[in-house]
Amino acid sequence: MENKKTQVAIIGAGPSGLLLGLLLDKQGIDNIIVERVTGDYVLGRIRAGVLEQGFAKLVREAGAAEKMDRLGEIHDSVEFAFNDERIELELKKLTGESVIVYGQVDITKDMMEVREQKGLETVYEASKVQPHDVKSNKPFITYTKDGKEFTLECDYIAGCDGFHGVSRKTIPNDVKTEYEKVYPFGWLGLMSDTPPINPHLIYAKNNRGFALASMRSKTRSRYYIQVPLDDKIEDWSDEAFWEELKKRMPKSARKNLVTGPSIEKSIVPTRSFICEPLQYGKLFLVGDAGHIVPPTGAKGLNLAASDVATLYKIMTRVYKEGDEKCIEQYSPIALRRIWNGVRFSWWMTDLLHNFDEKKDDFDKKMENSELKYFLNSDAGKKVIAEQYVGLPYEDLE
Ligand SMILES: Cc1cc2nc3c(=O)[nH]c(=O)nc-3n(C[C@H](O)[C@H](O)[C@H](O)COP(=O)(O)OP(=O)(O)OC[C@H]3O[C@@H](n4cnc5c(N)ncnc54)[C@H](O)[C@@H]3O)c2cc1C
Repeated sequence: MENKKTQVAIIGAGPSGLLLGLLLDKQGIDNIIVERVTGDYVLGRIRAGVLEQGFAKLVREAGAAEKMDRLGEIHDSVEFAFNDERIELELKKLTGESVIVYGQVDITKDMMEVREQKGLETVYEASKVQPHDVKSNKPFITYTKDGKEFTLECDYIAGCDGFHGVSRKTIPNDVKTEYEKVYPFGWLGLMSDTPPINPHLIYAKNNRGFALASMRSKTRSRYYIQVPLDDKIEDWSDEAFWEELKKRMPKSARKNLVTGPSIEKSIVPTRSFICEPLQYGKLFLVGDAGHIVPPTGAKGLNLAASDVATLYKIMTRVYKEGDEKCIEQYSPIALRRIWNGVRFSWWMTDLLHNFDEKKDDFDKKMENSELKYFLNSDAGKKVIAEQYVGLPYEDLE
């Protein structure tokens, strides 16, 4: 058994763990990341692509924003389409803010590279990772690497290990409450090296279901269509996907659809999940380890970033001012913003998807009326826009 020591032990080298690690280092707070898989495996996960300004600012503060600011695309608008009617939501005009389109894979890679350049330790391919004694003043993590067992002693543990990680399981069942809503459909996503159908994202809905036209750059598109939960990826050839996508896009956009071979295709289940509390002793749950949302509002990754922002402020105060009591603020502050993001994602998901088995004719009329109200009034548009670009981060008391 080999012993190591650090101030903050971070479990997971996804976006949450990497961002937190770089920020802590900026404040001179020592940290080691322990990750279950290889760096390449982490980078093989094609996920989010719309970044709020709050996220972007943190990445800049972390010193990993050079490529994001050079290659990321600023989007001042998003579009909604119902059948063939198209409504532009001018984010910048309505809120003064924009979003940045830059892939999760790219931002993760950028942060990995900066971490490596700074010589900060990341243990990849660590198995049997387990937090211990998190209620004590001497928490630690054990893991196995290359057949050797390690103990990592620390002051705090940041559980940044995603939905299936070990950190949340460390909080006893009688301490935590878990809230969950599973939707009866998934998102079939396809990435292709083709120019996007539109300069900004289109959230489209018609009687065939929901579709999202998104992108990563001027030459790379990311499209999604709502599919039944039991559909298999083998059921969907590229041709079948493009055919269905075309039918769900508004007519005036269809002519701009450029199709091509997929470079990635997968089905994502859609659900909301929230664990309360997010702090247990010296352990903090950060990002997907503590909560997930359906991707409709582009909030998953952005909520992970706001968790990181809160924990970063707390750790800075702990180490600079010796105020250990402030760690109790993590869970309430993080959860307030998370529930807002959960509500927005739930609202967008409910209104933009067809799952008619749950809706009678009255509900459908209400849904239609709600959409018309929100998207045809400046006040309604502003309500959507301010949530889409991201609500402000809350400060510590
Ligand atoms: C398929 C998919 C598509 C998505 N699409 C979108 C989208 O379009 N828009 C959006 O905003 N969000 C999207 N999300 C959500 C977004 O990707 C996540 O919110 C984001 O990845 C959260 O980052 P994280 O670092 O908290 O967790 P993760 O990215 O899950 O990273 C956790 C890391 O911890 C590691 N780990 C797990 N268990 C252990 C262990 N026991 N020991 C050590 N390490 C461990 C994992 O290998 C992983 O590298 C999507 C998510 C999924 C799954």
